[in-house]
Formats: sequence, C-alpha cells, structure tokens
Amino acid sequence: MNIDIMTLFPDMFGAVFSESIIGRAQKNHILDIKFHQIRDFAFDKHKRVDDTPYGGGQGMLMLAEPIYLCFKNICMARNARPKLVYMSPRGKKLDQKIALEYSKINNIAVLCGHYEGVDERLIEEIVDDEISIGDYVLTGGEIPAMAFIDTVSRLVPGVLSENICFEDESYFNNLLEYPQYTKPSEWRGRKVPEVLLSGHHANINTWKKEQSLNQTRIRRPDLLNNK
Ligand code: SAM
Repeated sequence: MNIDIMTLFPDMFGAVFSESIIGRAQKNHILDIKFHQIRDFAFDKHKRVDDTPYGGGQGMLMLAEPIYLCFKNICMARNARPKLVYMSPRGKKLDQKIALEYSKINNIAVLCGHYEGVDERLIEEIVDDEISIGDYVLTGGEIPAMAFIDTVSRLVPGVLSENICFEDESYFNNLLEYPQYTKPSEWRGRKVPEVLLSGHHANINTWKKEQSLNQTRIRRPDLLNNK
C-alpha cells in the first residue's frame, strides 16, 4: 500500500512510523509511506502557506494552491490518483469498519490541516473523504493522520503476522475483546481463570466468546445493536 502524507510538519511523524510494526512493514515493502512538505509548493517568495479568512474570524487558513500542487506532484510520482482523505473534525468518525475499507485501497493520500483548517474550495476540488478521530479539536491533522494510518495499516495483509491478530480483537464483529492474562498464573493473589490453564481448546473458545459478549454488554451495549 502506498501512503502519501501532506503536512506542514513532516518531522512529527518520524518515530511513530519508523518503529515497531509499521516500521517493519515499511522495511518489508508492504507499506510505502512518504511525507510531503506542503510549504515546498508555496509559490511566493516568502513560501507562504496560509492567509486570513474572508469575512473575518479568528486565525489563519491554509491556502488551496500549495496543497493542490503538492497533491498533483504525488499523483505524478505515483503514476496514480490516490484516494485523498482530509483529516477533519467535521468528517465521518473513524471506526474499525472504515479502517477495513481503507486497508483494501492501494493508494491513499492524507491531508493534515493546521491553524483553522483549509480553504473550502480545495476540499471541493480534490478531497474524496473527510475523516475525524473523534468529537474534539486538535491543533493539527498530524496526530489524527497517525491514528488513521496506523489503524488502516495494521489491517493490510502481511503487516501483522496473521489476520487472526485483528480478527480476534475489539471492534471486529462489533465485540470488545475478552480479558487476557500472561505469566505468572498467580500475581499478587489474583489467579488466571482456571479454564485458560486447562488446555481444553473448545472450553477456552466458549469462555472467550462469553467474556467478549459480557464485556461488550457492560461497556458498549450500543455495539450489540449494530451486529
Ligand atoms: N476550525 C476547525 C473547526 O472548527 O472545525 C478546526 C481546525 S483544527 C484547529 C486544525 C486541523 O486539525 C484541522 O484542519 C484538521 O486537519 C485537524 N483536526 C483537528 N481535530 C481533528 C479531529 N477531531 N479529527 C481529525 N482532524 C482533526
């Protein structure tokens, strides 16, 4: 999967994507993540990327043209037109279903807004989808983009060692995960449920399913209505 990130702050992404599972997926050429500095596409001598909003109001807005040129450059370099997502508080709220849909797309570009956001005409012209990571406002789209790309990437075949890693997890199938335990079998007087030590796979699976349902009923009953 090719992922192109348009941002004014590419350095924010370094450690997040070069370490651990996403870092390994890049080394293994399963993911190709590239960062694009929008400022490189500013057309005036001051490399300006923002200006005041028409009609007044607080803060600055990102100019349409540098973002547009940056995206055209990505299209040329990839020899494809990626699906362009703008991280935006007014977008549809990210969930596992949306992440799974995106994990099947080969070319994705992500636009990170900053300041008060971007000129609406840019969104009308090239943005395909707007995605929010929740009902709160962050200073920029970089952290939302990290969350979006991380959750999409781990669903791309080959990124995790086996698909079962995510098929067994919270939100797959609208269920929360069952409680998990590791060694020692007793810690500070708290014992691991007997069934998990039994080696009886059918009983263990039944226990996991029951626990999953219980956790979901208690913590997120709304998910069960979507099943
Ligand atoms: N003026 C905008 C508004 O009221 O909706 C908020 C702009 S915010 C300070 C700057 C940028 O951060 C946005 O353009 C967007 O890219 C990103 N952002 C902030 N909150 C977000 C969220 N919940 N989900 C996704 N992106 C977000």
